[in-house]
Amino acid sequence: MMQFRSTQSHDALVSFKDAILHCLPPEGGLYVPTQTVDMRQFFLYMDSGTTYPELVATVAPVLLQGELNPFSASRVAESAFNFEPELQQLDEGLSVLNLYNGPTGVFKDFGIAFLAAVMEELLKNSSPAMVLTAARGDTGVSIANAFNNREGITSVLLCPEGDIRGLDPATFVPNGGNIIPIQVKGTFDDCQRLIAAAINDRPFADRYNITSANAINPGRLLPQTFYYLYAFIKIKKYLHGDLVFSVPSGNFGNLIAGLYAWKFGMPVNGFIAAMNANNAFGDYIQGKKFIPHPPIITNSPSLDVSIPSNYERLQSFYEEAPAVMRNMVYPAAIDDAITLKTMEEAWKKYGILLNPNSAVAFAAAEKLRATRDFDGHIHTLVLATAHPAKEAALVGKAAGQTVEIPPRLAMLQKPVDPIALIDPQLDALEGAIASCL
Ligand SMILES: *Cc1c(COP(=O)(O)O)cnc(C)c1O
Repeated sequence: MMQFRSTQSHDALVSFKDAILHCLPPEGGLYVPTQTVDMRQFFLYMDSGTTYPELVATVAPVLLQGELNPFSASRVAESAFNFEPELQQLDEGLSVLNLYNGPTGVFKDFGIAFLAAVMEELLKNSSPAMVLTAARGDTGVSIANAFNNREGITSVLLCPEGDIRGLDPATFVPNGGNIIPIQVKGTFDDCQRLIAAAINDRPFADRYNITSANAINPGRLLPQTFYYLYAFIKIKKYLHGDLVFSVPSGNFGNLIAGLYAWKFGMPVNGFIAAMNANNAFGDYIQGKKFIPHPPIITNSPSLDVSIPSNYERLQSFYEEAPAVMRNMVYPAAIDDAITLKTMEEAWKKYGILLNPNSAVAFAAAEKLRATRDFDGHIHTLVLATAHPAKEAALVGKAAGQTVEIPPRLAMLQKPVDPIALIDPQLDALEGAIASCL
């Protein structure tokens, strides 16, 4: 059975269910899985004919043995995923894994969709739960989509100051749904602080069974390993040498999921941690001290992170085997000009449109391919983390193309009103929630 521990303690072990329903260890730190499960035998018989829900239904019950049986896992996989990753092979040594076919056009849809579905499944015959999430940009829509109509779950979105867009008022609690969007007079960090305060306020947290769907929840991290495994089974028959994933990295959740896939037995030779000008964390990856720099605004905004929120999770890998890790993760920094140039060249050379965040990883992959450290037979697989239409104007200009915006992504722009506006204080949050229920 896979158990979870805090990054700050090796003792108190909890089940997957407890980890996702409490999501902040009482000892502090973040939850990480303790033991690794060897999945190698499954890679033998899964191949390019395996669908994504089939892969999830096969892998999840092995990882979560004793908590999620194969029938439940298959229900979860079917109800979470009506979208799939899409592998595009560009040449013998280069592929792109498009992770933007979900409801909001961002790879985060994969982790969030699984978390919502598995939470509903594990809550059967238990008391209801409440999921508090700091929701910036389209993440709120992803959460609202995934948790909409989930039995036994109320989803509270804390939106920082600014416009709220893309939510469907029909899903809100006063209209018979289970979503409560609350605008907080403050920043995204204020919203996150409020959630930590709510989780740590025992009477309040216990009354509603409060957890969070932010990236602190390990129930988002684990399912991100699934698309790495999926990419591997799709590409394996074309592989003749090394396999390296290039991952656009901001808070490093995606990269860490790749490292777990490797721990689970996925044959992979390395990961590129592709960053933009916010690349101070590269020093840490190379074994030096991490000294954060002030954040820099770039044209790949999802990667504008100066202190990755998953720092402690990454640290837990490096503490175990620092030398192995230095040979496994290669940092790369790509500037804005190269990002634009890469969008143009990817279109001209391969006919693909890249979102700027994906272009950073693409450029980093090309850079690695051009060095001599790797002899010939290396296949780099670039994770495309967002739909090109998410930055339609920039992508269009760089590629010299008109970028079509799919209707589901156009809807994300529609403004909506929250159902409450509060100061960034716990009593205000408690009051707003109580008045809705
Ligand atoms: C969140 C995000 C990233 C960064 O992923 P991390 O897991 O935080 O490293 C990259 N690209 C896009 C489009 C994102 O939304």
